[in-house]
Amino acid sequence: MSTDRVVLVTGGNRGIGRAIAERFVSAGYKVAVTARSGEGPEGTLTVRADVTDAAAVDAAFTEVENTLGPVEIVVANAGITKDTLLLRMTEDDFDSVVSTNLGGAFRVVKRASKGMLRAKWGRVILISSVVGLYGSPGQINYAASKSALVGFARSLTRELGGRGITANVVAPGFIETDMTAELSDETQAEYKKSIPAGRYGSADEVAGVVTWIASDDAAYISGAVIPVDGGLGMGH
Ligand code: NDP
Repeated sequence: MSTDRVVLVTGGNRGIGRAIAERFVSAGYKVAVTARSGEGPEGTLTVRADVTDAAAVDAAFTEVENTLGPVEIVVANAGITKDTLLLRMTEDDFDSVVSTNLGGAFRVVKRASKGMLRAKWGRVILISSVVGLYGSPGQINYAASKSALVGFARSLTRELGGRGITANVVAPGFIETDMTAELSDETQAEYKKSIPAGRYGSADEVAGVVTWIASDDAAYISGAVIPVDGGLGMGH
């Protein structure tokens, strides 16, 4: 496994993104994280970027390229929720979630693809959610943004698959982070009942799959949706 490649993880200051960055650091990769606030884990280069802002994304990539070299592996992880039922969902609730979760992936992957095309090698890993394909009441904005990443990765696979670049979706189930801590106890208990594994996952369990997808062992996998959800989505 090549371990000295350059990785950029968006939203690497906390939660799943942080765990992903930590795993890559442990495996010897050169790791940069984007953060709007805070810092990435030890051993990473932290660059400031809001993924809704194309100019900020561009500047962050330039800083990483100048410090570590061209980005070879990109993990579009930054994401938000603004949950509410359809009739109460505002234009802003919808647009901000789509612009962060889907638009963010677009901006970051577009910028990363330039270097990957030059190198004729790249790994694009999009962090979706079980909710994207399973559906969830109160999460129309979020589910729409997350299921769209599947079409994104598959189209990218068809565009760039012949250039040594793979694009895959990792779809976590319920993972213990700030995002799920926001759910009410009642909702959390309800969700847990429907998970065959009978528990929430850890951010590190998602990170292990992401680092594997980035490895040479996964060179012939592209356009796939890889669930990390304790069986909840039954493989989608
Ligand atoms: P957290 O809420 O713990 O962290 C979200 C991360 O995204 C933070 O680093 C945050 O930065 C960053 N972020 C949000 N908006 C932006 C933005 N506009 N620009 C740049 N960074 C931004 O979430 P998780 O770690 O739980 O989730 C990470 C990903 O995994 C998300 O895409 C989420 O949808 C997905 N996921 C999570 C699941 C879970 O159960 N936790 C399940 C399935 C998918 P900041 O700290 O600056 O706000």
